[in-house]
Amino acid sequence: MGYTQLHVSPTLLFSGLSTPFDEADFVLLGVPFDATSTYRPGSRFGPLAIREASENLEAYSLRTGLDLEEEVRLCDLGDLNVLGSVEGTLDRLGTVVGEVVGAGKFPVILGGEHTITYGVVRALGDGVAVLSFDAHMDLRDEYLGSRLSHATFMRRLTELIGPRNIMEVGVRAISREELEFAETNGLRYITGREVIDREGIADIVGAFLSDHKRVYLTVDMDVIDPSYAPAVGNPFPEGMSPTTLLDILHNVWNDVMVGFDLVEVSPLYDGGQTAIQAAHIVHEVLSIAESIKG
Ligand code: MN
Ligand code: MN
Repeated sequence: MGYTQLHVSPTLLFSGLSTPFDEADFVLLGVPFDATSTYRPGSRFGPLAIREASENLEAYSLRTGLDLEEEVRLCDLGDLNVLGSVEGTLDRLGTVVGEVVGAGKFPVILGGEHTITYGVVRALGDGVAVLSFDAHMDLRDEYLGSRLSHATFMRRLTELIGPRNIMEVGVRAISREELEFAETNGLRYITGREVIDREGIADIVGAFLSDHKRVYLTVDMDVIDPSYAPAVGNPFPEGMSPTTLLDILHNVWNDVMVGFDLVEVSPLYDGGQTAIQAAHIVHEVLSIAESIKG
């Protein structure tokens, strides 16, 4: 019994999980970057708030019957050293993600703003498709003078991986320009209202997965209704519940999934509930991914 047990508290790690990198299956990285945020900045504090909330969650998942602490080997790398510029930050992010994926690990990225997804997907290489849960389409060609921001990164992704390799679920805060772009270019989307009203949403998402060999998941926290998750950069009413999101993912998840991120938690607007919802979503996705891995 030495100082490690008695005299110091451990550094904050996601759920206290500290598998060494070499032995880990999952590698978590925070990206405290929100430089292009336009309405409510502050998602740079997201990784810290989500880690803090994660400490208070039970490790056992009723959904999968797995215990995160005992059965999920996750290494929390800490946070990326971000820069002030978008491009510089995305390059650094790409370097780290490239190493994680090159070592055969499953990357789990905590935002930060949604633009970071562009840097991750770029690092994943050819042939990757993107499944996005977001109130927004983020498909504008330009927004407030910027061509690479949280409101336009998905348009840049269509140029990188092709619009037919993207599915957006839960969209409801959209412009006519974005909708027309999606329709014209074969980008698949499911509206927030369809998720609430229609049967068989998981089947539609599952069909998208079966069309692809590698799929990256991105969850913009604003896909969840603001009554559950108010502390996001751009809240928008009439969203889905966390249970709906997780049940869809549990239904469709298979071995084509190659990584995921959760972005846009802006904890300064929170009483803690958004951070706890976000931490729980990460918990459950990890547990779902582990249960498929077998
Ligand atoms: Mn977004
Ligand atoms: Mn959004």
